[in-house]
Amino acid sequence: AKGAGRNRFSYFTPALQVAALNRMRLTNDLRSAVKGDQLKLYFQPIVHLETGRIRKAEALLRWQHPQRGLVSPLEFIPLAESSGLIVDIGQWVFNESIQWVQRWRSDVHPDFQVSLNQSPVEFQREGGSYEVWLRALRQAGVPGQAIVVEITEGLLLDASKMVTDKLLQLRDGGIQVALDDFGTGYSSLSYLNKFDIDYLKIDRSFVRNLAPDSSDLALSEAIIVMAHKLGLHVIAEGVETPQQRDLLAAAGCDYGQGYLFDKPLPAEEFDALLRSHAAM
Ligand code: C2E
Ligand code: CA
Ligand code: CA
Ligand code: CA
Repeated sequence: AKGAGRNRFSYFTPALQVAALNRMRLTNDLRSAVKGDQLKLYFQPIVHLETGRIRKAEALLRWQHPQRGLVSPLEFIPLAESSGLIVDIGQWVFNESIQWVQRWRSDVHPDFQVSLNQSPVEFQREGGSYEVWLRALRQAGVPGQAIVVEITEGLLLDASKMVTDKLLQLRDGGIQVALDDFGTGYSSLSYLNKFDIDYLKIDRSFVRNLAPDSSDLALSEAIIVMAHKLGLHVIAEGVETPQQRDLLAAAGCDYGQGYLFDKPLPAEEFDALLRSHAAM
């Protein structure tokens, strides 16, 4: 039975060749995108549910490809990982983010935070360390607390010494940690206690089906109670309707993020949005 899969798909069907060629081309293009001006940073507001205030945002990467238009990070992050370009890209995201968060902390609110995604490959890459980030923060005069790093559950499940060390390094620099896509992976709760995590992001697959008396509401409520007992704040992802927002707020969820509030916006637009909010 094991061999059957191999017989069915030969490695060099034309379709696979085309896909491989496509990946190679796109990886090459990505190399010039990083050097050139094609990467754009978008920000999506994270809204405090009780007050409606925006004190946090998630940085989301976009690639404006000269021929293909906007390429999704779901498509190009894996290429960036396999080619090693992820290191330069992650550094670019970080540099952009500290410039923006510095302005928002001085002009909008002193506690403003920007959340950055770190894919497992990015987080675990050999020899990588967050020293470069911490130095950049010191040089810019931005405290670590301005930054939240979003990681996924899988990273903690089998945490190597390297993972633990890096988490401690972030923590020592004041950088906070959020557990992204919570509920989609292994969802072992023991590591919430074992590692120092600040935020838990409930995955949008739970939020999508929220309704009164639904099992997803019961699960969300349980997650929120447990997270609060462990001293974590909870962010719900993918909030699209007022009903979802209201159910989450009633369940004690701290923050919401989703199209109901705003989609990810180009940095300049998000900046304008924040300033108009702050003026109200
Ligand atoms: P994620 O970290 O789970 O980010 C949330 C995704 O949900 C974003 O997709 C966002 O645009 C989308 N979203 C926000 N609100 C809603 C909503 O109400 N409904 C629905 N259906 N979707 C919503 P996006 O921007 O396409 O990013 C996809 C993924 O790419 C991210 O998932 C993250 O894993 C990765 N990514 C994005 N930027 C970066 C980056 O700078 N570095 C790394 N390593 N990964 C990144
Ligand atoms: Ca995220
Ligand atoms: Ca997520
Ligand atoms: Ca904590």
